[in-house]
Amino acid sequence: MSSVYNFCAGPAMLPVDVMTKAQSEFLNFADTGSSVMELSHRSKEFVAVAEKAEANLRNLMAIPENYKVLFCHGGGRGQFSAIALNLLGETKKADYIVTGAWSKSAAEEASHYGNINAVNVIDNSDGTQRVKPSNEWPISQDAAYVHYCPNETVDGIEIFQVPDTGGVPLVADMSSTILSREFDVSKFGLIYAGAQKNIGPSGLTLVIVREDLLGKAHIDTPSIMNYQVLAKNGSMYNTPPTYAWYLAGLVFEWLLAKGGVSAIAEVNAEKAQLLYDYIDQSDFYQNSIVPENRSLMNVPFWLTNDEFSADFLAQAQTQGLTALKGHRMVGGMRASIYNAMPIEGVQALVDFMQKFAAGTK
Ligand SMILES: *Cc1c(COP(=O)(O)O)cnc(C)c1O
Repeated sequence: MSSVYNFCAGPAMLPVDVMTKAQSEFLNFADTGSSVMELSHRSKEFVAVAEKAEANLRNLMAIPENYKVLFCHGGGRGQFSAIALNLLGETKKADYIVTGAWSKSAAEEASHYGNINAVNVIDNSDGTQRVKPSNEWPISQDAAYVHYCPNETVDGIEIFQVPDTGGVPLVADMSSTILSREFDVSKFGLIYAGAQKNIGPSGLTLVIVREDLLGKAHIDTPSIMNYQVLAKNGSMYNTPPTYAWYLAGLVFEWLLAKGGVSAIAEVNAEKAQLLYDYIDQSDFYQNSIVPENRSLMNVPFWLTNDEFSADFLAQAQTQGLTALKGHRMVGGMRASIYNAMPIEGVQALVDFMQKFAAGTK
């Protein structure tokens, strides 16, 4: 098969234009005669790549001057530790808002380092799943920070309003929602995201951190995880993931050319609507999350009769609709429809779902 619509949750599909551009300069980058991945991270060619990527990200997200952007190793999970090590400070207390698998994991990892108050804010009393309004979250005013996950990749639960923490620094795991819609960065103490969902290939993790939160790291923090060390060294304290950084830069250019975050957010809303509308009017498929908390990026759904699930996946595959199997923890199906997924891919999925349901009933 020459091309497919790949619904993988991560590593996820990348824009074709980005891949084609990378391919065209794969062997000879900027007339160096070398691939970008063969260049020193301190070469003027790579430093230009790195600086341009950061400038474009700052532009896309309107990142204020008093925030550092760090290009890190270690994935989202690496940050589960790094955040605790860097930010817990002397109080060693933090609140973790739990809305699904990823925020739960983040809280568990952080609890190795301090006194973590993990609060589940999912209300499923009536058979649907809903996030309790953030003004009902029990936030401790003496916490070093409040951690939450605006988009739960596994569960398909999204929080659209930025919670008001009353001045306690807000830390957000945006691995699967960064750049999908607009965020006011100034409301956050720290934003982080593994790249492999909406930014680029795996191996790179972005951290956007307010400067006043630097310099509080625990003495035992490994230097490669210490935000202040990374910031001082322009994320080049050790060799950064250069090729992933370069590809992320190409994705940022692609997104700017598309009209930036506000433009892609409209397309994303349209894509999600198309799929949820179809699921809601069908009795063959279901999703039990309330509309206000349905993820725009990760759409889990279940066949009312699970007996047909294996066949659904097998037939989807032959139609070029790949990686639709739900996360092993929740089962069912999941369509991840990040920025790189065109609306045609979602339409093709809906068309297939319709045909499958009609043929099975
Ligand atoms: C994928 C993901 C992670 C984990 O990322 P790794 O890079 O695999 O460590 C963490 N949080 C969220 C919300 C994710 O979607």
